[in-house]
Amino acid sequence: MTRRPARLVLLGHPVGHSLSPTFQNAALRAADIPVRYEALDLEPGDFDRCVSRLVADRVAGNVTVPYKERMRERCDHLTPLAARVGAVNVFWVDDDGLLVGDNSDVGGFNAAVVELLGEPPRGITVGVLGAGGAAAAVLAAVESWIGCDAHVYNRTPERAAHLCARFRSIARPVDDVGVIAGAQLLVNATSVGLHDDAMPVDPALVAPDSAVLDLVYRRGETRWVRALKTRGHRAHDGLGMLVEQGALAFERWFGMPADRVAMRASVRDGAS
Ligand code: NAP
Repeated sequence: MTRRPARLVLLGHPVGHSLSPTFQNAALRAADIPVRYEALDLEPGDFDRCVSRLVADRVAGNVTVPYKERMRERCDHLTPLAARVGAVNVFWVDDDGLLVGDNSDVGGFNAAVVELLGEPPRGITVGVLGAGGAAAAVLAAVESWIGCDAHVYNRTPERAAHLCARFRSIARPVDDVGVIAGAQLLVNATSVGLHDDAMPVDPALVAPDSAVLDLVYRRGETRWVRALKTRGHRAHDGLGMLVEQGALAFERWFGMPADRVAMRASVRDGAS
């Protein structure tokens, strides 16, 4: 069994807005583990040096935008899921001093979808907006669902085509956002709405029976989610996925269940 990390960090740029320190420290307190979790805002030029120091000190943690792909390249060992997604958002150092990378965004997304739909998805088509790392995690989840497939629309169509080629058995790029808006489950995996009230798709275009998951989260939910709820849709923002990917990361580091109730309570009114 890998030794317990002495310190936990979040690597990203910027990280000032992140809720991860809040809910991870809540989980650590609830488990009575005397370890602190802190966010490290890293300039791109400092990334490699910092990771080498963290490995030497046996520090574990999370990785966020824009370093998930770069961390994948740095790891000595990847879990099959991290290799499939092509991105690492959880890491630790094993007893041989090797840097291990995993991906808990897929599990976080899965849990958020089950919470939204009330049951595991089966035989549905998912409309995915975006073609970055979060969209790759979404497709890795869809791939594991029984009888499901995905249509992917992205501002830069070449990126959608490239992503779908990696998931060709279940994903197809489309050039009409209307196709996405008609899906049974619609997912926003772009950063639209993260910094302002922009909406990824006009709510009036979304099919009446579509359920919607916005991976973006803001204080009081995103404007898109609020607008969709007003129109009668089942719609959630990305806070549930965020806390669940954090809980799964905690379980990788410590080999014990994370207190999800404490984690959620710590951020319930603080999302921004
Ligand atoms: P990424 O790899 O940088 O990809 C960003 C995506 O957003 C690309 O598809 C990009 O399109 C698109 N995009 C950006 N600005 C746009 C605009 N103005 N109009 C249309 N499309 C735009 O980022 P990522 O890691 O995939 O993350 C995407 C979002 O998911 C972020 O907001 C992140 O916060 C969220 N996320 C949430 C969770 C969670 O736990 N809730 C986990 C992971 C990610 P182009 O290819 O055309 O540039």
